[in-house]
Amino acid sequence: MGDSMIDLKNIKAIDVHVHAEASCHQPEDPVMGKFFDAASAYFKAPRERPKIPEIIEIYRAQQIAFCLFTVDAECAMGARRISNYEIAEFAADNSDIVIPFASIDPHKGRLGALEARDLIENYGVRGFKFHGIMQDIHPADRVAYPIYEVIAEYKLPAIFHTGHSGMGTGMRGGGGMRLKWGQPMLIDDVAVDFPDMKIILAHPSWPWVDESLSMALHKDNVWIDLSGWSPRYFQPQIISYANTQLSRKMLFGSDFPLIHPQKWIEAAKSVGFRDEVLPLIMKDNAAKLLGLA
Ligand SMILES: [Zn+2]
Repeated sequence: MGDSMIDLKNIKAIDVHVHAEASCHQPEDPVMGKFFDAASAYFKAPRERPKIPEIIEIYRAQQIAFCLFTVDAECAMGARRISNYEIAEFAADNSDIVIPFASIDPHKGRLGALEARDLIENYGVRGFKFHGIMQDIHPADRVAYPIYEVIAEYKLPAIFHTGHSGMGTGMRGGGGMRLKWGQPMLIDDVAVDFPDMKIILAHPSWPWVDESLSMALHKDNVWIDLSGWSPRYFQPQIISYANTQLSRKMLFGSDFPLIHPQKWIEAAKSVGFRDEVLPLIMKDNAAKLLGLA
């Protein structure tokens, strides 16, 4: 879109994966609260979720620009989401550092597509986040396609959660969540059907790491974000592909507030990324993908 006010000279990195989990206007949803309890224990992260202004402060202090989104799983979980409009408004007031993404439960179908268009055209939203496990849906379910059509029309990126999910981990019956919807190869159909949508497979996709690597290699519209795990625990093929054929396809993401960006960045320095590759992952690849460069 090219209308961002982010000045690449002034930022050190772009974090493509930051969650807004606490609203300034509404109390925490009790259903989500139970999942946050369990996820905090699994990630050994503080239970209290920062509100959006606090997140912005933390990132500005580090000169890291970031994509900010909530996860809308209202239909599947019966939990109220944080408003995409709240995120977009904070982003508009902090456009030197915040890149607003939005999330719409795919079950909202055509109604969701109307919201997606409004957010893009009138609120500067620059990408979307989907989470098949929380949204309890096959990523290529046709009910989602009207929303994808809008995203593709504007050639915007969409982040899809892949792999294991911290949400539900350790809970009774996994909190009712089905890990199968996190299998990356389910998104291959979406990548074929929407070649104009830029698809970011979030997290290193364990236990299906190799599927994501194959898809990013095969499809020009597929990238991988490395959020949700400390680089210390990456499987070796992630590092070797990042250093070679996929050096332009890998993106820094933290998954804050569950993982602090500074912790991720420190760990990334000593796991074998080549010196010339790390800056691509930290900033250049995302700048190009997001249309900032
Ligand atoms: Zn996420």
